[in-house]
Amino acid sequence: MRSPKIQSKPVNSDGVTGILKRIIAENGREHAWGYAAAIACLVIIALSTAYTAWIMKSIINEAFANRRADLVGVICLSIFIAFVLRGFASYGQAVILSKIGNNIVARYQQRAYSHLMKLSLGFFNQSRSAHIVAQVGQNISGIRDVMNLTITSTVRDLLTFVALLGVMILQDPLLSIAVFITAPPLLYALRYVSKRLRTATRDAVNVNSHVAGAMQETMQGIAIVKAFTMEGELEAKVSKLVRTAEQRANRIARLSERTAPLTETFAGFVVASVLAYAAYRSIYQNIPPGGFFSFVTALLLAYDPARRLARLQVQMERAVVNARMIYELLDMQPHQRDATDAKPLVVTDARIEFRNVSFAYGDDEVLNSVSFVADGGKTTALVGPSGAGKSTIITLIPRFYDPKAGEILIDGQDIAHVTKQSLREQLAYVSQQPYLFEGSIRDNIRYGRPDATDADVEHAARLAYAHDFIVAQPQGYDTPVGENGVTLSGGQRQRLSIARALVRNAPILLLDEATSALDTESEAAVQKALDEAMTGRTVVVIAHRLSTVVRADKIVVMQQGRVVEEGNHDTLAKRIDGLYARLNNLQRPAASDIY
Ligand code: ADP
Repeated sequence: MRSPKIQSKPVNSDGVTGILKRIIAENGREHAWGYAAAIACLVIIALSTAYTAWIMKSIINEAFANRRADLVGVICLSIFIAFVLRGFASYGQAVILSKIGNNIVARYQQRAYSHLMKLSLGFFNQSRSAHIVAQVGQNISGIRDVMNLTITSTVRDLLTFVALLGVMILQDPLLSIAVFITAPPLLYALRYVSKRLRTATRDAVNVNSHVAGAMQETMQGIAIVKAFTMEGELEAKVSKLVRTAEQRANRIARLSERTAPLTETFAGFVVASVLAYAAYRSIYQNIPPGGFFSFVTALLLAYDPARRLARLQVQMERAVVNARMIYELLDMQPHQRDATDAKPLVVTDARIEFRNVSFAYGDDEVLNSVSFVADGGKTTALVGPSGAGKSTIITLIPRFYDPKAGEILIDGQDIAHVTKQSLREQLAYVSQQPYLFEGSIRDNIRYGRPDATDADVEHAARLAYAHDFIVAQPQGYDTPVGENGVTLSGGQRQRLSIARALVRNAPILLLDEATSALDTESEAAVQKALDEAMTGRTVVVIAHRLSTVVRADKIVVMQQGRVVEEGNHDTLAKRIDGLYARLNNLQRPAASDIY
């Protein structure tokens, strides 16, 4: 399976700080008030935690050493209040940050979706659609996590940690220094872990999206899977992927949890040493225990935020890898933009002219200096053996791709210099495989022209010979179709896609005739619908039916990317050595009309 060739943006996408800056720049302002409120809550959490450690000194010294009963109530009440405050602040920050996080996910989903739609067909040819979908889903959470981790860790954990550190230093400076001497080796070890985690995470996202992609593809092509009894083979392939994904997930767990033994060992060592030293001082130097208790409380309380801070880099690595993958997708440039001098296309006769057009998908030339004219209001049929380049010609007209050389003109205007929007508005397209989207029958027809009224939709359906079977559906025009909708026959689906083209009412119709066999009745209905769609329009049709070719005003015969013959049926059929005459003779005796 190929992985999508997503090129990374050269600038600013690499370092964690680069990504971080970009995420904050894109989301910080939008949620400034929310973040300010969350930060206020986090400050309360940090200060109340530090206060609990600080007050230990007073409670121990006043209550136990000085026996001041009058102060006990006040001190204990203040501790109670600190806890209550912390509880509410915790609730507040969690709710606010979740809300912001959900909003970030929603916005990036929308952004990714609309960006994907702008990318050229070339990108989708290179990438597996199911794979892209899976990757987007996994990676967007990275952006949210980066923001939330940054806020919670820097504000709550760092602030709590610093405040507790302050308490420790104030209560016992010497002991504090002893504790912090041990920190550098720990940081070094954590750095090592996070580096390895970076590669592991990228790996895992890739494997996971392959798994999800493979499953989705199987579901989409389930009929083929069953018909070719591919179940066993696919199962073996997917289970191999699943096992790899499992191993990767385990590797990530091992790596990220590796911080636990490191930090615990460190903490155990520090706490035991401090206790030993303090006990020694209390026993031999008779120092009042309040300051020491406050110090130990601060030390113990500092452990949690310190541990979280230590893991921060590791978690951040994971989130940043995901975020970076999303940005790589979002930074992909749509391959062709409108030319700077692009004007709207003005259609008068809808005459299409190919002038020495050459084209290659990669290095292999597919069209070689193709020239022909599709006259306005007439039907031009493209015929020729499979692989001759007929479909490619059709894809060049809406500018799904741009020619490598030559020009395509519509009413004398080079389509490379008109806006894509205005160009595509003048085109309707009926593909070989009618595609129905999730939604009602009415929605599916209306995709042809979003501002079409219900009457327009119905009119188009009547012209496409679809009205009768639509009203026979359980909910008529509102019957859902698509993945979870009613089952329509091949002919019915084709007539819906013809109705979609008809409602668009565009002067140019691009048509890829279906080759799949329909029953005679469906076939006749589809043919009548097509005749209706073709009347009065400039039609470029990849013809498979003899009747279409015979009635076409012009036939362009293609072979290996070149136009080899041009004319109408009568003249071309008479050329003894012509390719068309040969194809025509081959097809006729079998009464099969497929070119
Ligand atoms: P026809 O419609 O006449 O059968 P096509 O235009 O589909 O011919 O194909 C012409 C040539 O271009 C074929 O050799 C085909 O393999 C190649 N081709 C078609 N589509 C693509 C694509 N998306 N990427 C790469 N090569 C393609």
